[in-house]
Amino acid sequence: MAPRVDPVTADETLPARADVVIVGGGIIGVSTALFLAQKGVSTVLCEKGHIAGEQSSRNWGWVRKMGRDPRELPLIIESSRLWQGMNERVEAETGFRNTGIFYLCESKQDLAKREAWLAHAKPYQLDSRIVTGEEFDRLLPGSAGRWAGALYTASDGRAEPQRAAPAIANAARRLGATILTGCAVRGIETSAGRTAAVVTEKGRIACDAVVLAGGAWSSRFCRNLGLRLPQLKVLASVMRTAPVDGGPEAAAWGPGFAFRKRLDGGYTVAHGSSNVAEIVPDSFRFFFDFLPVLRIEWKDIRLRPGRRFLDEWRMPKRWALDEISPFERVRVLDPEPAAADIDAAKANLARAFPLFKDVPIAERWAGLIDATPDAVPVISPVETIPGFFIATGFSGHGFGIGPGAGRLMADLVTGGPPVVDPAPFRFSRFTDGSRPRPTTGV
Ligand SMILES: Cc1cc2nc3c(=O)[nH]c(=O)nc-3n(C[C@H](O)[C@H](O)[C@H](O)COP(=O)(O)OP(=O)(O)OC[C@H]3O[C@@H](n4cnc5c(N)ncnc54)[C@H](O)[C@@H]3O)c2cc1C
Repeated sequence: MAPRVDPVTADETLPARADVVIVGGGIIGVSTALFLAQKGVSTVLCEKGHIAGEQSSRNWGWVRKMGRDPRELPLIIESSRLWQGMNERVEAETGFRNTGIFYLCESKQDLAKREAWLAHAKPYQLDSRIVTGEEFDRLLPGSAGRWAGALYTASDGRAEPQRAAPAIANAARRLGATILTGCAVRGIETSAGRTAAVVTEKGRIACDAVVLAGGAWSSRFCRNLGLRLPQLKVLASVMRTAPVDGGPEAAAWGPGFAFRKRLDGGYTVAHGSSNVAEIVPDSFRFFFDFLPVLRIEWKDIRLRPGRRFLDEWRMPKRWALDEISPFERVRVLDPEPAAADIDAAKANLARAFPLFKDVPIAERWAGLIDATPDAVPVISPVETIPGFFIATGFSGHGFGIGPGAGRLMADLVTGGPPVVDPAPFRFSRFTDGSRPRPTTGV
């Protein structure tokens, strides 16, 4: 069920000491490692499974500025710039291509809703715009749908999730970072209140700073430190088609389908408007934090009781650092995809783009998205534990912003001038009375 991910040559020996230890080898962890290594900082990355085993290899591969929450725009603009030069920077193929992205609209009302987002794009002079009629047909041929038009950004693009994070990890390693796989971090040790070391299942690494980039595991990691990080998981299902001749180069999101061309000539396809939030103990713990986002997204999220309730209930909430931690018990989160969502996506896509009608499905998988109450990530120091940093909660759109987030985190850890204002991503917004809310439903 898990998509095949490019291999990364991992290190065998656990260093006794490093300046910085990164917990998690998804796109955020490896990007942070790359930018720290480029600054000459001694860095160790610990991944409990394999590099990009979870969300970072399972996503659609969209690198989009379009439709972003305005708080993320400066960072995604920086990230898009980094993607442009990423193949050269890491001396490998990440699959990045500038092919454009469309949000297809069936009605004038839908189009007006999408158009409203352009007010956020204007101060940054983004190339996002509405396209209709002949221009739309020319830019996105092959559609049988009757579209009122689309929101389109030519400078948005795509990359290959199964290749990008491994390529970045390999480059970080060439620059001196140590990459450890099959190496869960159980927790951190402090000395006089400051971060002093991580304890892994393979031993202890003394360090000055720790970056938690643990994706869907971050809230559990924080809980053992006495920190409350509101974060829930949302199940999103995906399929890969066999190669398709003459299909669209651009990616598009329409009613009940989303597609993106792959380097292998096939397409990554998903429903796009149907995700499952399984009811788990954290659903109750964080219910009031997530109520505002549920009110906005209720049409697209199905709440469902399931087996994960018991699995998560049984997981220890607290553990000592000499005990096996929850992270060693689940090397790779590999949930069952929702077959109905994938079948519906395929049918909806074939109706809108008949070229896809008889294309075989080559593979199906699912991923668990880690969401925050305002759908904006945390990229931040933790004030109460000096030397402890969090980069998580990318809420279903962290692949595109990953390189930018890694760069920002490297700036924060080293105390350099941050590449963008980090204030919107501060951890303290959950406790300082800010009442975090999503600000766009696009
Ligand atoms: C189906 C789907 C479609 C998506 N589509 C897009 C898209 O098109 N564009 C986009 O921008 N984003 C998309 N996303 C979101 C994107 O994939 C994520 O936001 C991004 O990959 C998050 O990266 P990460 O590094 O934070 O987390 P992850 O990739 O989940 O990595 C976290 C890693 O930390 C490891 N870990 C956790 N705890 C520990 C520990 N204690 N010790 C050691 N290792 C640990 C885990 O094993 C894991 O490998 C999508 C997500 C899904 C699931």
